[in-house]
Amino acid sequence: MRIPLKLSASNTITTHFEKIASLGERLSVRLRNLCGQRYTDILLHLPTGLIDRRNLCTIAEAQTGEVATIKVKVLSHHFSPSRRKMPWKINTSDSNGDQLELIFFNGGKWLENKFPVDQEVYVSGKIEALLTEKQIIHPESFLGSLVPAHVAKLWPTYPLTAGITQATITKAVGEALAVMDTDKNLNQEWLPDELIKSHNWVNFRTAIRQLHLPDDINTLEHENPARQRLAFDEMLAWQIALAKVRNQTRIQNGIAHPPVMELRQKLIENLPFDLTNDQKKVLLEIDEDMMRPTPMLRLLQGDVGAGKTIVAFAAAVRAVAAGYQVAIMAPTEILASQHYITSQEMLEPLGVKCALLTGKMKMSEKRKIYKSILEGEVQIVFGTHALIQKDVEFKNLSLAIIDEQHRFGVRQRMALSDKHKGNGTTLDILVMTATPIPRTLALTVYGDMDVSILREKPPGRTPVKTTVMSTDKISDIIGATERIIERKEQVYWVCPLVEESEKSDLAAATQRFEQIQKHYGDQVVLLHGKIKAAEKEKIMADFKAGIYKIMVATTVIEVGIDVPQATTMVIEHAERFGLSQLHQLRGRVGRGADQSHCILLYAPPLGHYATERLQVMRDTDDGFIIAEKDLDLRGPGETLGTQQAGHWLCKVANLETDKELLILARNTAESMLKHPMPAEQEQAVNYLLQIFERDDATQLAQSG
Ligand code: ADP
Ligand code: MG
Repeated sequence: MRIPLKLSASNTITTHFEKIASLGERLSVRLRNLCGQRYTDILLHLPTGLIDRRNLCTIAEAQTGEVATIKVKVLSHHFSPSRRKMPWKINTSDSNGDQLELIFFNGGKWLENKFPVDQEVYVSGKIEALLTEKQIIHPESFLGSLVPAHVAKLWPTYPLTAGITQATITKAVGEALAVMDTDKNLNQEWLPDELIKSHNWVNFRTAIRQLHLPDDINTLEHENPARQRLAFDEMLAWQIALAKVRNQTRIQNGIAHPPVMELRQKLIENLPFDLTNDQKKVLLEIDEDMMRPTPMLRLLQGDVGAGKTIVAFAAAVRAVAAGYQVAIMAPTEILASQHYITSQEMLEPLGVKCALLTGKMKMSEKRKIYKSILEGEVQIVFGTHALIQKDVEFKNLSLAIIDEQHRFGVRQRMALSDKHKGNGTTLDILVMTATPIPRTLALTVYGDMDVSILREKPPGRTPVKTTVMSTDKISDIIGATERIIERKEQVYWVCPLVEESEKSDLAAATQRFEQIQKHYGDQVVLLHGKIKAAEKEKIMADFKAGIYKIMVATTVIEVGIDVPQATTMVIEHAERFGLSQLHQLRGRVGRGADQSHCILLYAPPLGHYATERLQVMRDTDDGFIIAEKDLDLRGPGETLGTQQAGHWLCKVANLETDKELLILARNTAESMLKHPMPAEQEQAVNYLLQIFERDDATQLAQSG
């Protein structure tokens, strides 16, 4: 795989679309938020339903309860301007003289333009019967001069978001399909011939076409070869990327940490609690890895609040005691500084030198820290992405701990391990995630990582009570907050991204902040991404100290904050979040002994997936169940933060039901990489990786 990408630049499906010509600016932005930035993202935004409008018949033939498409002539409109709530009715008849009534609950002048009297139209919809009269409520309609084939066919339906209609997506898909047809990069097949033959698969273009322009009612079925082919492509891209990285990191020599345990023992003795059995078990697993002269690559899965931090610290002090340095990387500054604050309480008293490094620090400050890291004066350094910048050099880094893995890609992991300067050795890596994945999938999803699980939660927790409410209730909730504050408890109030830009996101949070501040004055504080690191830290510390009672925040608080006396979490627009994200947020409360509450506010109307997601949140707080549901209930691109949700989520494939395809993809990836392939195919494979955005890991492996 050393051939550079030589891809045709114009008219490719991996191009970012500025604007979809038939949609205009505003809709294009919404579409981008829904699907993604590239034509291929539109193409991979697959329909989730089909409406069968092929039944072209007369009114007499149309059966009640079935979808029929009928050519009718408009006879008359009936509506009452004084009684707006009454439906608008249109009488029509077909060539046999039978009558059909069209009903609109959102009537208005536009209907008279759309259905002029005497005009012939095709109408399509489910036939309802009222006594003897047949009706269609809110039919689809088309000019009667159209060819029936354009109307009476299978209609795909797509997952939507606010402000986007089926018609919008259909137009965008049409344009993206046109780009696909002229994309020369797709002329060459990437899959091996035998594979295609043995599964009766069609090529990529045909598969995409069949799914968007279906002519078979079973098109969306799991077994459909077009869907299978795309699901396989998606998983193959992913497995090839993983295999490349795996092949590159398969190095035999690691660091054998000697078992110097006094510092560890002191740490544990100083804790105000006993470790849970799961924590002890996981530590043993980590200890064995660290002792071995091969690199550790271990994933620690544990629900929010399961107590991963102390496990990380216990592993870290062991490396420190052996004379090494440790890097602990977190996805946000807040989380990094939270860990750092905890380290001041737990590690500094033991004489361990810790430091915090974040991107927003002043250069002079950074330089000081760089120096002390290089000289080995700092033993454990906490930080964000700032840790993997090239200026950061360690004296003898032996252990890298990465918290909340789903935010980081393989790229960051590898960049961090590059910071180790051993003679031919690779450092130990411990990755921690609060997004549990089904065990069966762990191997394939995380490549060659070993997996440890913290399932048992620390004792003394009362489960959080979760309530789902409409946003109308906001002022009631603001009022009720008083009682919470009187009890010396605290409140998180989360305002997510509401519009397309970060600006309006902030505006919404600011507005809510001001509203709440009217009631509670100085007790309220606003936290958002634009606040400087040092100030953020101070706000957090003050909140933890109880100086503020209510924290209004954008999703920056998502991970890691630990404030035991915070007992209430209000989440606005909860319907826009994915399950894992909601679960993470909810995990901020319920950390003490008091009864905690989570209030999920939604803006109606709720879509299908969103309804189910909120239901799941009300019914369970088991992270593993939530993780499994998260796979099922994520309409593609439907929720906030899908990009962050990590590379193990798929657009086409379903990790549970496509498990066999996944295994096949894994094996195919291995064998494709083992044998040299013709240059054209290699190029096609590279394009496949681009289509599914798995190419960054690849480039990294090549450059390494
Ligand atoms: P997470 O797994 O989400 O990172 P933390 O490590 O932040 O969880 O732990 C959550 C809280 O539980 C912290 O306040 C921590 O001190 C506490 N904790 C951790 N382990 C135990 C234990 N064995 N018994 C009691 N409390 C614990
Ligand atoms: Mg944590």
